[in-house]
Amino acid sequence: MNTRRPEPDTSGRYAPCATVDAVSRGRRYREPPPSYRSEFQRDRDRIIHAAAFRRLEYKTQVFVNHEGDLFRTRLTHSIEVAQIARSIARALALNEDLTEAIALAHDVGHTPFGHAGQDALNACMKNYGGFEHNLQSLRVVDELEEKYADFPGLNLTYETREGILKHCSVKNAAELGPVGERFLNGQQPGLEAQLTNLADEIAYNSHDVDDGLRAELITIEQLNEVRLFNEQYEEVKQLYPQLSQRRIIHEIVRRLINRQVTDLVQTSISRLELHAPASLEAVRRHPEALVAFSDRMRELNLELKRFLRRHLYRHYRVHRMSAKAERVIRALFEAFFNDPRLMPDEAQLKVAALREQSGDSGQARAVADYIAGMTDRYAIKEHARVYHPGELT
Ligand code: MG
Repeated sequence: MNTRRPEPDTSGRYAPCATVDAVSRGRRYREPPPSYRSEFQRDRDRIIHAAAFRRLEYKTQVFVNHEGDLFRTRLTHSIEVAQIARSIARALALNEDLTEAIALAHDVGHTPFGHAGQDALNACMKNYGGFEHNLQSLRVVDELEEKYADFPGLNLTYETREGILKHCSVKNAAELGPVGERFLNGQQPGLEAQLTNLADEIAYNSHDVDDGLRAELITIEQLNEVRLFNEQYEEVKQLYPQLSQRRIIHEIVRRLINRQVTDLVQTSISRLELHAPASLEAVRRHPEALVAFSDRMRELNLELKRFLRRHLYRHYRVHRMSAKAERVIRALFEAFFNDPRLMPDEAQLKVAALREQSGDSGQARAVADYIAGMTDRYAIKEHARVYHPGELT
């Protein structure tokens, strides 16, 4: 751990409970401090230069990448999360650089094909420790990125790593060392991690409405059942009765984001005033998250999520893509796990190394790492190259 302890921030720019360099628990491998950037700026910069970050451009959440160029990818999603999270961080006088680092890295461990891909890979890994995307994001920044001469991964600060690991099973947390401890002792992460987690929710609920409408999988009429949507719809209709459909949708979506962000900022300011945590440690020890939505907004959010689950995520066209995605992931896992010689040389070396460490589980983990790192289109190509006799290898 880096033991450097610069002077605490006294500029008044940050709230006393913000995460600043001076209170950071440091990096896993000791490094000299950056000379004109903060530690968290350096984290953010390393993430932007990571190969896994670039690959987010060709990974999807709900829609498969080649469905259309207008839909969100994980890259644009991550940028939207960073935008929303930075606004919230600034409003709460928290650390924007750390917030941005967490937001940009939060999805780097995702498999191709969104949740369908993750569920399929988790099923394949059932007997070998399972597959969790949050844990994989941490694994990418801690181990799998190979760039720096002096350490594996990106050697990010504890606080960025803590923010990336949003959820984790108790079993896996126990094996992670310090960054897993909060899942065992009921502590909270820093406020920047808390707010980025909710910014993620705001971003995907709002953009799934937007993408779902444009893909014509859901309609405005259907969405008007949902109170949070309907409130914004009525306002837009009242103000602009003649507006085109495209602009109506955008005016609603921007209001959806704004309503949720405003609620989150106001509720969090009240909670921070009430509990007045004097330090990052006080935030961690607080029995619950201090960044939160109001009860009413939580309820409205839940209603929107239920709607999306029922009408969008389970729409037959989405389900067809998910079912296809699952078959591709399962088939790739089966082929590579049973015969790693089908994998590229570099991936084979990793299989051999992990196999030596932990037998079949190690072999399965290396195969899962290889598959999880694929983009949607690469996974489809690999599937064809491995299974279709006519396809060139
Ligand atoms: Mg996300």
